[in-house]
Amino acid sequence: MTEPAAARKSRSVAATSPTPAVSEDVRPAGSPSRRALVHERWCDNRHVSKKSTLLVVIMIAALCQARASAWGDRGHAIVSRAAIRALPLSVPLFLARQIDWIGSRSVLADTWRAPSEPFAKAAEDPNHVWYTEQFAFLRQIPRSRDEFVLAVYDEHRRLRDTDPARAALTNVHYTGTLPYAVVEGYERLKVAFRMWREQRAQQKDTTFIEQDAAFYVGWLSHYIADGAQPLHSTIHHDGWVGDNPQGFTRDGAIHWLFENTFVDLIGLTEADIESRISPRAQQIADPFATILAHVDRAHTRVAQVYELERRKALEDRSSREARELVYTCTADAATLLRDLIYTAWVTSAVQVPSYVPDDPTNDPRNPRYNPATGAAPPLPPPASTPR
Ligand SMILES: [Zn+2]
Repeated sequence: MTEPAAARKSRSVAATSPTPAVSEDVRPAGSPSRRALVHERWCDNRHVSKKSTLLVVIMIAALCQARASAWGDRGHAIVSRAAIRALPLSVPLFLARQIDWIGSRSVLADTWRAPSEPFAKAAEDPNHVWYTEQFAFLRQIPRSRDEFVLAVYDEHRRLRDTDPARAALTNVHYTGTLPYAVVEGYERLKVAFRMWREQRAQQKDTTFIEQDAAFYVGWLSHYIADGAQPLHSTIHHDGWVGDNPQGFTRDGAIHWLFENTFVDLIGLTEADIESRISPRAQQIADPFATILAHVDRAHTRVAQVYELERRKALEDRSSREARELVYTCTADAATLLRDLIYTAWVTSAVQVPSYVPDDPTNDPRNPRYNPATGAAPPLPPPASTPR
């Protein structure tokens, strides 16, 4: 499998970028990455203070932040296609008919991350990652993208004078926003399903809304698959940073090796993960909480990826354990995607007013209104609802 065109484009453009600190370098195969060179210098310096060590650790993370793409073409396509095949018959067949379109759209979100399109890149980059260690200061993850951004900004301000190095990387580009991208995509799909129901009830042509829904599924699937890649959930996304008692690799090549090279080496197929997708589609009561749990699960597998790399299992197509890890991660993603599609379909049947002139979520008289965001954040579901 070749490297995605978007990733290649991103790398070549980054070579001339005036902001190399967050850009990937172009290098011949086998030569050390910029991250590796920085790390080398870091290791050579035996007199660094604790504070400057921390600075370098964080800067190493910064250097690599833009690299993450996740899964390559094959992994993303397999996740979305397997999810479509696992849908129950109650979901309209128009999605299954568009399985090739959905599979091909599953990699699109990575094409919006090149420095040549800086506005799109700035908005898009954080949606692909969720670096768990970077928001450990939060007791609870806000149920609102805006509230999360503000909470991270508050922490940035708190650190600004006492620890400017850490403050410089305490922002959403170094925490990620992946769960918000997933839940927002889920809601877009739900709207499309609702419109399909309405148009069908009115005996209108549903061709275009069916195309929209398929596009939303492909787009949504990207972030769910990214969230299942353990290295998208950690500051160790492109080589281990900081204390390293287990001697894991510092080389950023581990990222692409796991998600793309090894996935191609084993020739991942839909059939490989079919039996690992739970047989019954589940209606998810709280999509946002379930998405957070999905990435948390991936985070528990970070050390295993590094352990496999150390044993060279990611270069061995016969490695049972390495295969199992890929199957488990991609099946997790396909299961969640299937269940979110199913949930969007079921809940789209609930009638909503087509127009609410006095939107209570944006009304300052709403007791839950947050003046900093101009909205009341979405409520969690009642405690008694399933999953
Ligand atoms: Zn991505």
